[in-house]
Amino acid sequence: MQILIKGAQVIDPGRIDGVKDILIKDGKFAQIEEPDQIKPESDTQVIDAEGLIAVPGLIDVHVHLREPGHEYKETIESGLKAAAAGGFTAVCCMPNTKPVNDNAQVTSFIIEQGRKACAARVYPAGAISVGSSGTALAEIGDMKQAGIKAVTDDGLPVSSSQLMRRAMEYCKTMDIPILVHAEDKDLANNGSMNEGPKATALGLRGIPNASESVMVCRDIAMAELTGARVHFCHMSTAQSIDAIRQAKRKGIPVTCETAPHYFTLTDEDIPPYDTNFKMNPPLRSEIDRQAIIEGLKDGTIDMIATDHAPHNIDEKDVEFDRAAFGIIGLETALPLALELVGRGHITMEELVEKMAKAPAELMGINNDLVSGNPADLTLIDPDYEFIVDPDTFISKSRNTPFAGRQVKGRAAMTFGNGIRVYEAK
Ligand SMILES: [Zn+2]
Ligand SMILES: [Zn+2]
Repeated sequence: MQILIKGAQVIDPGRIDGVKDILIKDGKFAQIEEPDQIKPESDTQVIDAEGLIAVPGLIDVHVHLREPGHEYKETIESGLKAAAAGGFTAVCCMPNTKPVNDNAQVTSFIIEQGRKACAARVYPAGAISVGSSGTALAEIGDMKQAGIKAVTDDGLPVSSSQLMRRAMEYCKTMDIPILVHAEDKDLANNGSMNEGPKATALGLRGIPNASESVMVCRDIAMAELTGARVHFCHMSTAQSIDAIRQAKRKGIPVTCETAPHYFTLTDEDIPPYDTNFKMNPPLRSEIDRQAIIEGLKDGTIDMIATDHAPHNIDEKDVEFDRAAFGIIGLETALPLALELVGRGHITMEELVEKMAKAPAELMGINNDLVSGNPADLTLIDPDYEFIVDPDTFISKSRNTPFAGRQVKGRAAMTFGNGIRVYEAK
């Protein structure tokens, strides 16, 4: 089976930028040529992609699929289909399932369910510690053999510096990145939103910026000590970005991600009692939002991930301070990131770097548009305007703060292994 994608603007940062035709054969890229150079065979499926942008498959390195354990919020299948609908050809799923992905059996289960879904690929992250309880190292070597691409206790910080040191030393020998959920739980003090005037006005307990940045600073020091690949998840504060910028200048091997809500919203945007605006870390101040955009512009922030965290209405339809943390993001990330391009903060090429190439590098894979590589490809329609409607989401959950927002740009088609796993209607 051959697929010929004709006339798309192809962007593969540092390699390709221009109108090309792409031939996919047996699930792999076969040829990428100037327009009309490829002569299709009679059974070739031809896709007219004029006006669309073809990019290496987008990868979301931070997603919560709720299977095993909380399938009523999301299954591996529904999550991977939502990912494909958002233009992602692969996601890295966090291990805080029930049971926790802290052993090879759970890892294999996730990979097998992912294969059956016939949607985006799944790259499981294994837990750092047994049960993510922060006491003993999990069987990281076994999980690596079973297919994990990273380790993290995401959802929970690794409070013990000594355990984190041992995890880093171990992962360095196996070349596995450590994804850090940077949070000092004592400082966070069971808060439910950003510490500031808005929290005071609403009478809610606040979470200070330092609850994130003190742990970022600790783990920068630990990365320097061990030489391990340390990646900071969902960065939300100006102080964290400053610290990472300085660490990179010193040559310490750290990377980081932010999520679309941190460059789009602030705590001032939270409508009274709307728990779809409750996430961890919380929406911060305008100063922080500007610092995040600055970090994206100057390359301090390497990538954009969603921290897609599905919750059922029951966990959200309660008082703000009792509601679950987290929002979904797979089906809104691309249009929200395209706003950065629309406003001139970053170029389209930089967006592809942050949503496809840097994530691939973190996962230790190569998603270049080059013949022989698996045909993982996203076709972006940059001009399609629509209003975000959670009722149209493929995800099983609806907890988004972006309902009703006017956005522009979406995935038109998503290909995984040369198979069309999503097509916009
Ligand atoms: Zn986290
Ligand atoms: Zn998370």
